[in-house]
Amino acid sequence: MDLPVTTLDESERKLLEIRCDDCGATLTLPAHRFAAICPYCASPSVVDRPAGEDSARRARPEFILGFVIDRKEAARRVQAFIGRSRLFAPTAVKHAKVSAVEGLYLPAWLYGSVAESQYQARIGENYTTTETYTTTDSKGNTTTRTRTVVKTEWRELSGTHATYVLDVLVTASQGLGNAELETIEPFDLRALRRYDAAVVSGWIAEEATLERDEGHRLARSEATSFVEGRIERFLPGDSSTLQSFRTTFSNEDTDLILLPIWVFAARYGTDGKTLRILINGQTGEIQGKLPRSPLKIAVGVLLLLAGLAVAAILAMTVLGVAL
Ligand SMILES: [Zn+2]
Repeated sequence: MDLPVTTLDESERKLLEIRCDDCGATLTLPAHRFAAICPYCASPSVVDRPAGEDSARRARPEFILGFVIDRKEAARRVQAFIGRSRLFAPTAVKHAKVSAVEGLYLPAWLYGSVAESQYQARIGENYTTTETYTTTDSKGNTTTRTRTVVKTEWRELSGTHATYVLDVLVTASQGLGNAELETIEPFDLRALRRYDAAVVSGWIAEEATLERDEGHRLARSEATSFVEGRIERFLPGDSSTLQSFRTTFSNEDTDLILLPIWVFAARYGTDGKTLRILINGQTGEIQGKLPRSPLKIAVGVLLLLAGLAVAAILAMTVLGVAL
């Protein structure tokens, strides 16, 4: 009798898709890990449906970076992060359950190209010269003296510059913007490997909801700033100003990859403000904006003013005694 081939548990293989109406994230998760709130923004406005309706149409990841930081370590870091920001954080945040931290694979576009630029610049060369000047000495006599001064001579320079643009990373997620992703970069992309569905199995993965065209546009703009910096450093002279440059990109590659992220999201207050802390699942870099309690800030300002008033009274008392 043939033994049955070992496969993943049926519930492991069945995927569910949820879409968050608040932040726009579309997440794929194992059916047994059904989430009633969005792991990104803690919104309860999630709609679930069987996976596969739109996912066939979406881009498939080409590479993936695995997790290095585990859930326990991620929760410990969230706890420490909140602890450090304790002073002004609202009480509700300080008592948040850090074990609610969620690991997920974030889709991102990885871009590379060859950049060739034509530039126009002004180059400054320093030279020293001796100047004579007249001055009045202590006896009121006018005397002539000399001094050495540094001057700059400017000239125009135009030319071409070529460079590789490697590893520009931009978000492919509507739930998590590019500026926020940048706060926990860099990732060590040498650890990238070919995408394999087995690596993602059991984890929440976000679908790429930011299309390739949009990712390409974002990456091009990051690449352009990178090129600008390269040309500026390349310019000769004691000082220089890059006046204009035009870049042509060729051999462009835009690949969809998945990045490991731990997210801690919570809602607080009567108006449901969102708190979100992100951890780079590979390096452990943690960033987040903690809300500040207006009441606690007001109390802090009052204490500071009171301290200044006391100092002023003390100073006046001391001066008064002296006078
Ligand atoms: Zn959301």
